[in-house]
Amino acid sequence: MNSTFEEMVKCKIIAEYYGIERQKEQAMEEMSELIQAIQKLKRCPMSIDDYKKAMDNFVEEIADVYIMICQLMILTNGEKVVSVMHEKLERQMKRIEEEKSVKVKVVEDDNN
Ligand SMILES: [Mg+2]
Repeated sequence: MNSTFEEMVKCKIIAEYYGIERQKEQAMEEMSELIQAIQKLKRCPMSIDDYKKAMDNFVEEIADVYIMICQLMILTNGEKVVSVMHEKLERQMKRIEEEKSVKVKVVEDDNN
């Protein structure tokens, strides 16, 4: 799941070629397409063929957004983004651990 060095080099070349203002616009467009792809997956009922097409579209739009996020990180302060991401992930892991311990306690209380 990690990006290769070669992929990051390509993102850097693309990002620097188009610049921050154009890539912010492009990022908004790609994020909007991802939202639409997620909404398409929620349509029910859906034929298997339509579901496969919707899943392929979903994967394609995730790739587009990921490429744009990489470029925005290159064009802004990627190290700060990684640092904030680290803090947020740690906070969420703590929340999950707290929720798990509450659930265990509820189950224990129900059994007594
Ligand atoms: Mg797209």
